[in-house]
Amino acid sequence: MMNKRQLELYIHIPFCARKCAYCDFLSFAVPEHTYRNYMDKLIEEIYGQSACFQDSCVTSIFLGGGTPSILPPELVEELFAVLYNCFTVAEDAEVTIEANPGTLTMEKLEVYKESGINRLSLGLQSADDQELRMLGRIHTFDDFLKSYQRARQAGFANISVDLMSALPGQDAYSWKNTLRKVMMLKPEHISAYSLIIEEGTPFYERYGRADASLDGGMAGNKRAVPVKSVLPGNSWNNYMELPPLPDEDMDREIYHMTKGLLASQGYERYEISNYARPGYECRHNIGYWTGVDYLGLGLGASSYISGYRYRNEADLHRYLSLDLQKAGAAARDIQGLTLEEKMEEFMFLGLRMMQGVSGNEFLGRFGRNMWKVYDLAFRKLQGQGLIEVEMPWVRLTARGIDVSNRVFHEFLLE
Ligand code: SF4
Repeated sequence: MMNKRQLELYIHIPFCARKCAYCDFLSFAVPEHTYRNYMDKLIEEIYGQSACFQDSCVTSIFLGGGTPSILPPELVEELFAVLYNCFTVAEDAEVTIEANPGTLTMEKLEVYKESGINRLSLGLQSADDQELRMLGRIHTFDDFLKSYQRARQAGFANISVDLMSALPGQDAYSWKNTLRKVMMLKPEHISAYSLIIEEGTPFYERYGRADASLDGGMAGNKRAVPVKSVLPGNSWNNYMELPPLPDEDMDREIYHMTKGLLASQGYERYEISNYARPGYECRHNIGYWTGVDYLGLGLGASSYISGYRYRNEADLHRYLSLDLQKAGAAARDIQGLTLEEKMEEFMFLGLRMMQGVSGNEFLGRFGRNMWKVYDLAFRKLQGQGLIEVEMPWVRLTARGIDVSNRVFHEFLLE
């Protein structure tokens, strides 16, 4: 097992009860009978693809979406039985399911445990019901509390909570309130991203390209694929009355407050937007940020295998009509990365981590001296106080984190 190549699995479930007003992930509502059809195809794809990965050992599985917890529990059970049958999965693999309050029952949670799922990622976003309504979420804070308590009762000892800041009308007080309520529950992990206004969403109609993000945030292995939003019972015009977004100063204040408050309760920031109690950092995401190969399965899922990147077919009807027993039948936009592109990506993703990037790792991976390849960029950014060097590591400073996108730009090679 130890000689096998490390592989991460991401499985995409694109279904949601309804579309949130800010969301451009590949997700939508479908009639329930579609769940079965989709699962049949997904299982076909797993059989087809797994034959090419018999020399790999899966160290993490991430069932993301969409809302995977919307599926009937027997489908999740079947999916994991097939995954464990088809792949070599490490005994201590981190196995995560994304779940949304309002879709989690005790029965589902028990099936998850029995299926080998050992980590739950709960999408809360805000503890303020009015903010949740503005976002178009299907649940209240009370629904979240019930889901959280049920998950603890079912024995989940590793729970992550997703939060979102820079919401319409949000101030430091309401954000602090959300953080405090969540910290009282003592989840093992908290993700805190800034809202990004994405084209094709009702929020874009209201706010235009007022990108409120400081960090260009990204959750799990999700890949944003613009899709027209579907809001049953809602019209895009309902969103025109929303309050303005917080300005950049407020956004930054919220961001710095988050680090301080979470640190006071034992959460360490290990990535620009992710915090964990010691030992509970998300191994799946760390793999992504440090360049571990990942295989995406399901509609629109992204993969990065041996220096090649591709995305699966993103049209549901086409995906359902493919012969997925043939390995790679769903792969689209296959792109082989050049050495320069691999080095650039290694720097962008690695610098998201607070530990930074190691020159030794860079040398081992690319056979090139990182300090020479990026000599000019390092000198410039160090002069501006945006990075710090502690051999063999280089990492962002607090100021560098505030302008991380600008810093990352410096690592583009001509
Ligand atoms: S934000 Fe999450 S729950 Fe809401 S529509 Fe998008 S994927 Fe579904």
